[in-house]
Amino acid sequence: MPLAREAVELLVQAARAWYFEGNRHGLRDREWMALRFLGRANRFSRTPSALAGFIGATRATASQIVKTLESKSFLVRKPSQEDKRSVVLHVTAQGEKCLSQHDPINHVVNAVTALGNDECVRLRDSLREVLNHLDAAHQRLDASVCRDCMFLAERGPSTSKARASAEFMCRLYRAPISLEETELLCTSFERTRDRPKIEEHLDRARMASQG
Ligand code: SF4
Repeated sequence: MPLAREAVELLVQAARAWYFEGNRHGLRDREWMALRFLGRANRFSRTPSALAGFIGATRATASQIVKTLESKSFLVRKPSQEDKRSVVLHVTAQGEKCLSQHDPINHVVNAVTALGNDECVRLRDSLREVLNHLDAAHQRLDASVCRDCMFLAERGPSTSKARASAEFMCRLYRAPISLEETELLCTSFERTRDRPKIEEHLDRARMASQG
């Protein structure tokens, strides 16, 4: 059997951990997917429309999922600080606890962690490469982190008190981004071809934050 096919078939088997019939710990697979995404998304992507795009559902389906998660106290809506007419979805402490204790992908995360750091990096980079090919073929973009995004720039001197400690700037949203936020998922992400330059800035900021 060609190696590529064997690898993809193993991936399909691994996917049984997160695609399943019925529910686990009270949530269906798409509800888990939504809660997981909202637990990792940045403030621009925790909206009902970004959620619908990420889980590949209609706005009506995403709204139903949000209602289910709210009814279980895993999620609350708050007005957006950037635009008071919009809402931002926040995962509650109870939602975070549920994710850390019962998320069906936790077993897969543990198995991948057991591979060791170098193997994890290789696996992550290979899967990212595969997703890039799929995104190009389907003219679709998945969410990814600011760290790899073309809109991330180093920030100039701050004039605003809010987020005065933010080290970076999003040129798309024209908003400050803190070092921690560069690791969160964003559905407006566009892959950069200029990684080494911003990597340098990130490394400097990371070292400074560690004292
Ligand atoms: S820099 Fe890119 S990934 Fe980060 S918030 Fe802006 S658009 Fe999203």
